[in-house]
Amino acid sequence: MGWVKGRVREIKRWTERLFSLCVDAEIEPFKAGQYNRLRLFIGDEWVGRPYSYVNPPDRRPLEFHMVTVPEGPLTSRLIHLQPGDEVELMPRSTGLFTLDQLPDARDLWLLATGTGLGPFLSMLGTQEPWERFENIRLVHSVRQAAELTYRDRIQAFSELAPDRFGYVPMVSREVCEGALCSRIPATIEDGRLERLAALTIEPDHAQVMICGNPDMVRDTQAVLKGRGLLRNRRGHPGQITVENYW
Ligand SMILES: Cc1cc2nc3c(=O)[nH]c(=O)nc-3n(C[C@H](O)[C@H](O)[C@H](O)COP(=O)(O)OP(=O)(O)OC[C@H]3O[C@@H](n4cnc5c(N)ncnc54)[C@H](O)[C@@H]3O)c2cc1C
Repeated sequence: MGWVKGRVREIKRWTERLFSLCVDAEIEPFKAGQYNRLRLFIGDEWVGRPYSYVNPPDRRPLEFHMVTVPEGPLTSRLIHLQPGDEVELMPRSTGLFTLDQLPDARDLWLLATGTGLGPFLSMLGTQEPWERFENIRLVHSVRQAAELTYRDRIQAFSELAPDRFGYVPMVSREVCEGALCSRIPATIEDGRLERLAALTIEPDHAQVMICGNPDMVRDTQAVLKGRGLLRNRRGHPGQITVENYW
């Protein structure tokens, strides 16, 4: 399949390493939670990597939340793009980390580390989670408080559905008022997350989506499995759905 040309509309800088790339490109319709591939010609070859959409499917520009990885061949270039620069994308998006893969339930838990927040913002910007789930909790785990990105957008969800939506920020490497100072698996294990979220994670009621750092994804799954939750598999519905970023 060929690639399509995209043009950078804006780069938002959150910290020295964290940024969001807004791109205009003609692509086919996609579902919230899916990803595209972005590529640049670097040296003498094309370098492409998958990136999840932050924008809901009906909104433009296309938006990708990224972190510059030390020595990372693509991110170390993407962060230097300027409005008007070209980047190539796939016309068609892929991925099964979407709400339509989840069985119905009462509660939806969205657990992210770092830039793994992106697909959840895309989902929350659609009608589907609000129509299908009574309670929604978004957990964003980062190292430093400055990495708690998209607070305005998240605040808008809180204002839209104050009784149904809850946001739990988590900062692991410094003390931050209003945030849990820990990591996601530890706070499920000791009950702090559920206390702060005012909701318990129960196999009969919960669907849990986990996105980002594979160590967090693995450790969180292990804790949840200990609580009786199972991976969602084709033909074997469970409660856990995951996306590993590397
Ligand atoms: C399905 C999918 C969706 C993805 N969506 C996003 C996204 O929306 N935003 C995003 O920033 N990345 C995302 N990634 C990761 C992305 O594809 C690249 O791997 C990343 O941007 C680094 O690219 P690179 O060429 O600079 O370095 P690489 O050589 O590709 O990566 C080097 C190392 O960097 C680390 N790393 C990779 N990604 C991250 C990350 N996000 N945060 C912290 N450390 C990381 C890993 O240790 C990896 O081995 C996604 C990956 C997958 C599989």
